[in-house]
Amino acid sequence: VAKEEGRNRARVFNARMLHGAEGDDLGAETLRSAVADGRISAVFQPIVDVSTGRIWAAEALMRLKDAEGRAISPEAFIPVAERTGVILEMGAWILREACDLLASEPALPIVSVNVSARQIDDPDFVGTVEAVVRAAGIAPSRLALEITESGQISGNPEVARLMDRLSESGIRVWLDDFGTGFAGLTCLSELRFDMVKIDRFFVQSCDTPRGAKLLKNIIDLVGNCSQRPIVEGVEEARQIELVSSFGVDLFQGYHLGRPMSRHELKRRLADQPNPEEPFDLTAAFGD
Ligand code: C2E
Ligand code: MG
Ligand code: MG
Ligand code: MG
Repeated sequence: VAKEEGRNRARVFNARMLHGAEGDDLGAETLRSAVADGRISAVFQPIVDVSTGRIWAAEALMRLKDAEGRAISPEAFIPVAERTGVILEMGAWILREACDLLASEPALPIVSVNVSARQIDDPDFVGTVEAVVRAAGIAPSRLALEITESGQISGNPEVARLMDRLSESGIRVWLDDFGTGFAGLTCLSELRFDMVKIDRFFVQSCDTPRGAKLLKNIIDLVGNCSQRPIVEGVEEARQIELVSSFGVDLFQGYHLGRPMSRHELKRRLADQPNPEEPFDLTAAFGD
């Protein structure tokens, strides 16, 4: 409990520092200097195809340290970056990191990058993404953009146009955190996503018959809309066993790998099960 409190206190302190005494201007400067000083970094969390045991993709996640080297949570700095517009620079930075990793790691099929509504609203957004992909010399279909369901997405003709442009370029678009926002169902009916990531809330409440039934229904719903699910937040082997019995192969979560450095991810890729050999799901992921 003391540890938990310590963490919470540290987070509140950092978030306040980031907002600054004078409000967002200081927050923006703090973030810009963090970018300039190389205090932002990217970690990558594997998304595993449990039918083969192999890494199918990795999600890029941003990390930030304050000037004293203490980690600031994305939940504290992303909202400030969005409000101040610094997310445009930070977002372009992590896109380059992701494409760089793809260029140096042919064994990694896909990297996904989170994008904020603020980035999508930027008229240069698609151009920036295309330029980064081109500069890295990678196939555009190896990059996925994760968009969170929100009021800004559903019913917005701009977003539909943007998705058409991205898919013409071959870049994938995934719906993130499905099931938590208020616009999830309208998003599914209006827009065509390559993948739908089911929020970790659902797998983490599938221990009860009711929770399991809800998750199965969400998975069926995604499938019935001809879209493919990724289940986020698996922390235990028995969750994978249960949810794979619902027909899901793609999972992300601490049980399969924490967000890790590029170096660690490369090691994981080098150690994968052989694609030629039959793979025993229960032996690998069972309790
Ligand atoms: P997200 O995109 O839904 O990312 C998944 C979050 O769940 C990550 O938190 C990840 O570390 C965490 N996670 C993964 N597996 C598990 C698990 O098994 N259990 C639990 N409890 N958590 C798990 P993180 O890295 O703290 O990021 C939080 C959010 O911040 C992200 O949620 C995303 O919305 C935002 N974010 C992170 N990096 C970026 C970025 O580069 N750009 C933008 N726009 N947003 C970002
Ligand atoms: Mg995400
Ligand atoms: Mg998510
Ligand atoms: Mg999220």
